[in-house]
Amino acid sequence: MSSKTKTTATKEEAKPALVPKLRFPEFHEAGDCGFCGTCKAHVVRALQRAGHKVLFCGDGTSDRHGAEAADAVFAREGGSLVRWCAERSIPHTVFRSFDEVMDRFPA
Ligand SMILES: [Zn+2]
Repeated sequence: MSSKTKTTATKEEAKPALVPKLRFPEFHEAGDCGFCGTCKAHVVRALQRAGHKVLFCGDGTSDRHGAEAADAVFAREGGSLVRWCAERSIPHTVFRSFDEVMDRFPA
């Protein structure tokens, strides 16, 4: 005879488990968005506090907060960051390749 026991989930047990929101407090500081796992704005602000002007290159959703915090923004053509910056009046330069960006800053 099998030792397995057939169980039937109750209605309450059949509900999907609630997944706790992941937090990465060691990567956040006061004023961070609290949304990104590692917010690029955090990195931008750290560089600015160290006295740097920060030029930010990006293309998508994960670049939004970094673009908001940066001193200048390059947004890749065709990426959602272009529209996002435009909708928020964040000055930005549209680029196609990193070579194009680097050509603006000769060594
Ligand atoms: Zn963020």
